[in-house]
Amino acid sequence: MADSEFDVISKYFNTDFTRPDVSQGIGDDCAILAVPEGQRLVASVDTLIAGVHFPVDTSPEDIAYKAIAVNLSDLAAMGAEPAWFTLAISLPAIEHDWLEAFSKSFHQTLEGYGVQLVGGDTTRGELSITIQAMGFVDVDLCMQRGNAQAGDRIYVSGCLGDASLGLQLIQDETRSSSESDYFVERLNRPVPRVELGRSLSQYCSCAIDISDGLFADLGHILERSRRGAEIKLENIPVSSQMKDYLDHENKVSAIHEYMTGDDYELLFTVSEANEDAVKAIGEDLAMPLSCIGVITEGEGITFINNGKVVYMKSS
Ligand code: ADP
Ligand code: MG
Repeated sequence: MADSEFDVISKYFNTDFTRPDVSQGIGDDCAILAVPEGQRLVASVDTLIAGVHFPVDTSPEDIAYKAIAVNLSDLAAMGAEPAWFTLAISLPAIEHDWLEAFSKSFHQTLEGYGVQLVGGDTTRGELSITIQAMGFVDVDLCMQRGNAQAGDRIYVSGCLGDASLGLQLIQDETRSSSESDYFVERLNRPVPRVELGRSLSQYCSCAIDISDGLFADLGHILERSRRGAEIKLENIPVSSQMKDYLDHENKVSAIHEYMTGDDYELLFTVSEANEDAVKAIGEDLAMPLSCIGVITEGEGITFINNGKVVYMKSS
């Protein structure tokens, strides 16, 4: 690696933020990390490529934020407590203004969640950002995709569809920015449901974060759990901004077209017995939680609109 790239690491990626469970962070061949007793390490990795996972003109601050948020969201879906990240970044050139803005947003966001950057790799190439997220979870409390049971209620957090609409509006040059600001913000700044995931893990054993889209991600749960689902379309939560937009565009019946991903809300299942406890968690965290359907013995997804079956999707 060229000297200038060592400078990049020490100038932009070294951090003063330290956690007691890190005996070696950035600076050696490997990081040395301590997992608390009785807990399991959970790890996931995600790559964001310019022009594929975010528009090329996205600000460095937004890229840094989103790269962290999508990785935290994976930990949230397992019910894990985030602890450490590594960052492999590939840069087309060393642009100091860009690096300054990116790294500032990166460190600020990460430290906001109490997570330490413990290593990485810096290379030259098309702009891409790969993050490995690590955290831990109690052995018995991990939420996994294969644990849905027939009769479980299907819930989602927050509102869905805003980010998908934001992406469409960015791509539509006839739209003014004031019309799209809220939706684009929702695309660029998803909030990972870390606290919610940790609380839910006490009462739920099956969750996924919605990155590919509500029905695609529900499909992952159904496939792994070998179950089916009935979904009440009218219960899918959308923001008041989205409702206004759909009203205005005469598209109220097209909500499902915006279930194409990037929401980073949690989709989870809960037994009838634990439903009240889950509702109380939503109230405590001031996080809307909506029941959108039920897990069935069957296969695929049955869509119901105001009591009528409108569509069936095989798995
Ligand atoms: P190596 O030759 O062992 O791969 P590097 O020269 O790539 O080491 O990196 C030196 C140190 O800096 C290592 O501890 C590595 O984990 C860390 N590092 C490199 N790039 C980054 C980055 N983008 N973010 C955080 N740490 C990094
Ligand atoms: Mg290296």
